[in-house]
Amino acid sequence: MSATPAWLAYDREHVWHPYSTLIDPPPVFPVVGAEGCRLKLADGRELIDGMSSWWSAIHGYRHPVLDTAVRGQLEHMAHVMFGGLAHEGAAELARTLVDITPAGLNHVFFADSGSVAVEVAIKMALQYRAARGEVEKQKLLTVRGGYHGDTFGAMAVCDPVTGMHSLFNSVLPEHIFAPRPDVAFSETWDAAVLTDLRELAAFHADTLTAIILEPIVQGAGGMWFYHPAYLAGVREICDEFGLLLIADEIATGFGRSGRLFACEHAGIAPDILCLGKALTGGYMTLAATLVNSEVAYTICRAEPGVFMHGPTFMANALACACARASVELVLNSDWSGNVARIEAALRQGLAPCRDLPQVADVRCLGAIGVVELKEPVDMRSIPHAFVARGVWLRPFGRLVYVMPPYIVSDAELTQLTAAMVEVVSELP
Ligand SMILES: *Cc1c(COP(=O)(O)O)cnc(C)c1O
Repeated sequence: MSATPAWLAYDREHVWHPYSTLIDPPPVFPVVGAEGCRLKLADGRELIDGMSSWWSAIHGYRHPVLDTAVRGQLEHMAHVMFGGLAHEGAAELARTLVDITPAGLNHVFFADSGSVAVEVAIKMALQYRAARGEVEKQKLLTVRGGYHGDTFGAMAVCDPVTGMHSLFNSVLPEHIFAPRPDVAFSETWDAAVLTDLRELAAFHADTLTAIILEPIVQGAGGMWFYHPAYLAGVREICDEFGLLLIADEIATGFGRSGRLFACEHAGIAPDILCLGKALTGGYMTLAATLVNSEVAYTICRAEPGVFMHGPTFMANALACACARASVELVLNSDWSGNVARIEAALRQGLAPCRDLPQVADVRCLGAIGVVELKEPVDMRSIPHAFVARGVWLRPFGRLVYVMPPYIVSDAELTQLTAAMVEVVSELP
C-alpha cells in the first residue's frame, strides 16, 4: 500500500481538521480502517488506540454487536424527522438512560452533538426562569478549567483563557467564573476550597439560573480530577441559593471515571445532565440532555408552552439503535472490572514519569491517565514519536494523556504507557 494516498494532498489544502490551520498544517495520518483497539494506517502500520477517538470508542472499533445493530436498523430506516413522528429506538434508549442515570432525571432531549446538548441544557435553564417569571436570572456560574464544547453558548462557559474568550468577547454572553476546584480527587478534603464558589453564588444569586460543570473530571480544559466532596458541596450550594445544577458528563459518562456516571462519586443528582461521546460507542454523533420533572414541566406549563429546540437530525434512528446496543454492551459487560484493571495498569505504567525532569504531575482516575508536563509539547514532532512506537496518542498543551477503549489488553496497555514514558523522557 502506498504510504501517502493521493487524496491526502487535497485534504491538507482544503479540509479543516479540529483546531487546525490550512497553512502548512501539522501532520495528519491517513487511516484506512480500525478494528478492536487498533487503527490501520494507509501504509499498513497498525497503531494501538490510546484516545478512544476522544472518549467515545469505549468498545473499540468494528464491534460485532454494534455493527449488527446498525445494519439491523438500516433494514427499517436510517432516519426520519422527529417532529410529529416517534420510533421505538428513541423511546427505548430514553428508557434505559432514565433508568441508569442519577435519580429524578426523567425526561430526555436527543441532540446531535455534545455541544448542542450543552446548548439545550443552557436553554432549559433559561426557559425555566422565564417560566417562573424570574427573567433577571439568566447567568451561569461555573469553574475555571472547564470545557463544554465549541458552539457559542457552550464556549461562554469554557475556561476563558484556554477557550480564548478574548477572541469572541463581543458576542459571548458573560458568565461568572469561580477558581478551578483546587483539591485533587484523592487529596485530603478541605471545605475552604468551596469558599469562592459559595461567595460568588451568594453575591450573584439574583442573576444566576444555574451552576454548570463537569463532575469530577475536567476534560479538554485541563484533564484535572477533583475531589468528590467538592461536587457534593456544589449540589448543596445550588440547593442553598435556588440554583439548578447542570452536570456535563459528555466525557465521563458510561464508566470512564470508574463509576457509570461521575456524579455517583459524590452521590448527587443534577437537575440537568448532558451525555454524548461514548453514548453510541463512538460510532456516530448523538447526545442527550436529561432533565428532572420539576424543570421539564415548569417549562412546558408556561408560555410559549413548548421547549424551543428541535434539530433536523434529532433522535437519528441509526444513532439511537447504535446507542442502545452500546449502552447494553456496557451494562452486560464487566465494565467496572475493566476500568479498574486499566487504572491499575496506567498507575503502574506511568509511575516512572514521576521521576522525569520534564514532568510536573502524573495522575490517573478510572480509564484515564495524564502526564502533565512543565512545557507544552511540539505538535509537529510528537505525533511522529508516538506513531513510530506503534501507538496513537494526541497530547495537547502540557498534557500527554491516555484513555483507551475498555477492551484494551494488558499487553497493549504496557505498550501505550511504555511509549508515553519513552517519548516524554526524550522531550527537551
Ligand atoms: C467533548 C465535550 C463536549 C462537546 O461535545 P462535541 O460532541 O464535541 O460537541 C462538551 N462537554 C464535554 C465535557 C466534552 O468533553
